[in-house]
Amino acid sequence: MRVTFLGTGTSTGVPTLACHCRVCASPDPRDKRTRPSLLVRFGDRALVIDTTPDFRAQALREGMDRLDAVLFTHSHADHILGLDDVRGFYFRQQKPIPVFADAHSMENIRRTFKYIFDGDYPYGGVARLDPHLIDGPFEVEGLEVIPVPVMHGNLPILGFRIDGVAYLTDVSEIPESSYPLLEGLDVLVLDALRPRPHPTHLTVEQALGVMERLKVRKGYCTHIAHDLGHEETNARLPPHVRLAYDGLQLEL
Ligand SMILES: [Zn+2]
Ligand SMILES: [Zn+2]
Ligand SMILES: [Zn+2]
Repeated sequence: MRVTFLGTGTSTGVPTLACHCRVCASPDPRDKRTRPSLLVRFGDRALVIDTTPDFRAQALREGMDRLDAVLFTHSHADHILGLDDVRGFYFRQQKPIPVFADAHSMENIRRTFKYIFDGDYPYGGVARLDPHLIDGPFEVEGLEVIPVPVMHGNLPILGFRIDGVAYLTDVSEIPESSYPLLEGLDVLVLDALRPRPHPTHLTVEQALGVMERLKVRKGYCTHIAHDLGHEETNARLPPHVRLAYDGLQLEL
């Protein structure tokens, strides 16, 4: 299994439009963060978690040439607005692409992309998608996926565990009942927005606390805002925790 960070930025991306702060102006390519998403390649198959507004550029950058499923964590704009662009893969594969989301997110996604789901778009050129409601562990082409309920402010959303990797973006709190799903992880990818508290995201300190409690072997922070420069933040983190960056790949 090979995991690639398609994007690691917060909802605005970094640089943030019209901002000229130190991180937004940084020449370090790892300070350029597109919206948050993960590509998981297994065998000759591939799934993505979320389709961000940057999805097309991310897929081109990583040389994606197939897509077997889309898993959605939730339906905020920075996680769904690239869904239209999965049609490139549909045109090639000629098979509806399975899309997985919980009931609340699916409702929002179906409303936002009504022209795709209604199947009566008169102008052609749209993907065919195969929606699946998540109500427990499920399989994608033989790969087991375990949904991990987390809180994003007052909104219950999903993270996903695949084998020894868990991806938890947009998290402000992990309910006690979800901790058993995260035991024995090799890699935890976790929301760490910035140093200052935020109502719907973990701070770096809070993310470190979760990683400590779970005794993860390796932790990666994502959904990163322009408050955190890559190099200087990594210098302050424990050695087994790093900021993720766009294009980072992990072999598992
Ligand atoms: Zn987000
Ligand atoms: Zn900035
Ligand atoms: Zn969100």
